[in-house]
Amino acid sequence: MPANQSMDLHVHSCYSDGRLSPAELAARAVHNNVVALAICDHDTLEGAAEKEGACRAAGIVPVSGVELSCQLDGSEVHILSLFADPDSACAAMLDELRDARERRMSAMLEKLSRLGIRLELSDLPSEVGVLGRPHLARALMEKGYVKSISEAFGRYLYDEGPVHISKRRLTAAEGIDLAQRLGGAAILAHPGVSRLLGNLDELRALGLDGIEVHHPRHGGTAVASLLRYCRDHNLVVSGGSDFHAPGESPDIGSQRVPRDLLDDIREVAYSRRQTFCDRA
Ligand code: AMP
Ligand code: FE
Ligand code: FE
Ligand code: ZN
Repeated sequence: MPANQSMDLHVHSCYSDGRLSPAELAARAVHNNVVALAICDHDTLEGAAEKEGACRAAGIVPVSGVELSCQLDGSEVHILSLFADPDSACAAMLDELRDARERRMSAMLEKLSRLGIRLELSDLPSEVGVLGRPHLARALMEKGYVKSISEAFGRYLYDEGPVHISKRRLTAAEGIDLAQRLGGAAILAHPGVSRLLGNLDELRALGLDGIEVHHPRHGGTAVASLLRYCRDHNLVVSGGSDFHAPGESPDIGSQRVPRDLLDDIREVAYSRRQTFCDRA
């Protein structure tokens, strides 16, 4: 294996808030010389077979994954489950989270209708596993109720605003546990973005397996200190572009993530899988 091969273990598809299909993502990854790709959508493993097939057809290594939205003391924490098994019995937990999101969306539509704005669930994209306020903002704009996404948030959707309803979020402890029960390695996503660099010990105590060290919004200093932290505490190192759409975010493969990191991540994931199966 050439020493300089690079992978991307964090991109989003149209199964959550990304724009591209799995096949388009895989083609883009190949074009950018990425040899292994994890399409990790927000809170869903839907489309896992399609994602795996798209990577295989394009000649790159598929890594299954999901990015779980969690909270720690009220702040957002994202936990990736890399090598998550879509056939795991715990995948049903993700369906519950999706159903809760759909109930929340219906309740927000109800609040809008009391303000005289008529939107139906069918006005929102049907292929999306995980519906959120950004989809609602887009629908408000398409129906002509607002001129921009920011007007939709500014008038209706802002936190604690007239239409907003909080969503049920897993605690970080629940998220790490679920990531591992899914048969994956529990990786803390973009701690530099989530301002969690001061909470690493706390998250590690909850059983974290690794950290997404390489991320477009981590500068050189953060990367160096996270690499040191992983080495000192025996955590695996991961990385990805967090790509959502062409032109909107750094491209697939924009981070150099050495291919040989994959073996350690796979090993820790598989050891988790065994632990949880033994316990079941
Ligand atoms: P939700 O998960 O449904 O509560 O939606 C949260 C998402 O809405 C965030 O991740 C942002 O992408 C988006 N968002 C929140 N506030 C704003 C805003 N003021 N303008 C545009 N997008 C926003
Ligand atoms: Fe996203
Ligand atoms: Fe994230
Ligand atoms: Zn992401």
